Amino acid sequence: MTDGILALDFGGTKLAAAVVDLAAEKIVGPVIRKRTPVSEGAKGTMDAMIQCGREALAVFNRPEVVKAVGISFGGPVSEDRCSVLRSNHVADWNGAPLVADISQAFHLPASMDNDGNVAALGEWWFGGYRSLENIAYVQISTGIGGGLIFGRQLYRGSGLAGEFGHYIVEVNGPQCSCGRRGCLESICSGWAIARDGRGALALGSGNNPVLYQLSKNRAETVTAEMVFEACREGDPACKTIVKNALNSLAIMVVNLITCIDPQVIVLGGGLTRSRDIFEKYFLPVVKKQMHPFFNGRCRVELSTLDGNELLLGAALLTQKKSSGK
Ligand SMILES: [Zn+2]
Repeated sequence: MTDGILALDFGGTKLAAAVVDLAAEKIVGPVIRKRTPVSEGAKGTMDAMIQCGREALAVFNRPEVVKAVGISFGGPVSEDRCSVLRSNHVADWNGAPLVADISQAFHLPASMDNDGNVAALGEWWFGGYRSLENIAYVQISTGIGGGLIFGRQLYRGSGLAGEFGHYIVEVNGPQCSCGRRGCLESICSGWAIARDGRGALALGSGNNPVLYQLSKNRAETVTAEMVFEACREGDPACKTIVKNALNSLAIMVVNLITCIDPQVIVLGGGLTRSRDIFEKYFLPVVKKQMHPFFNGRCRVELSTLDGNELLLGAALLTQKKSSGK
C-alpha cells in the first residue's frame, strides 16, 4: 500500500475512524467507533476523535504509509472547507478551525467537507456509480442531508447545495432543527421518527401495543429503529408514523428528480439499512408519484455500502481530482 488515508467521521451521535487504502479501494483494519460525547462539547468531541484516529493508526501498525487525513463533518462547513460553520447536535463548534487542528494533531495534511457531500462522493465512487455523470445522494440518519455529483464532480452551489433535509414537505408541519416548520427532516429523520414514537407512547398503549412492549413504556428508549421494528410487527400507531415519514421522503425525491434529472438517486444512512421498510413504504410511493417523463429514466436505489460511504468518501476528499473545486 502506498497511499493510505486516515478517514475520520464526526457524526451527531457517533464518531468513526479508519485507515483507507485508496489503491485497493477498501478500508484496511478495523473501524474504531465511539459515541459522540455530546455533553462535553466540541473540545471533548475533538479529544475523543483524536483518540479514535490514533487507535486506527496503532491497530493498522504501518502509520508511515498514511499520507493524509480526510474528514467528514456532520454539519455545514465554511466555503473554503477549513472550518466548521456549526453542528446541529454538539454545542460550541461554530468557527472551529477543524482542518488545521486535525492536521496539527496527526502531523499530516487534512481535507474536510460536510457529511452529505462526503457520503455522495463515497457512494458515487465506491457504490457502483462511478461511470455515471449525474447522481444525487440522500443521507437519512439522525438528520437528513445529501450531496450532488454533476458532471463527475461534487456540486456545492455557493457552498450549501444538497440540504435535502430542509425541503419543506408539509406547510406548518412539525418544528425543524433549523427553526422552521415542516421540513423533511422534521418528519422523516431518525430524531423525528423517534419523537413521533414517543408521542404515540404518551397517548397510552391502546394504539401502539408493540412499541409499548418493546420500549417497556420508557419513552426515553424509543428510537427510529424501534418504531420500524414495531411497524414490522403490525403496531398501528407505528405503521402510521412510518407511512407518513416515508411518504414525505418519496415526495421530496420525486420533486428532486423533476428538478435536476439525475441518472440515479441513491439513499443511504443508518435508517436505510432497514431495507424491508424502504422497499414496502418508500419505493412504491416513488413509483406512483414519479412524473411520467422520468419513469424508467431515473433509478432510485438504496446504498449497499453498509454505512462505509462516509469513511470511503472522506478518504477521497484528499484526492483533488475527484472531490471537485
Ligand atoms: Zn429545516
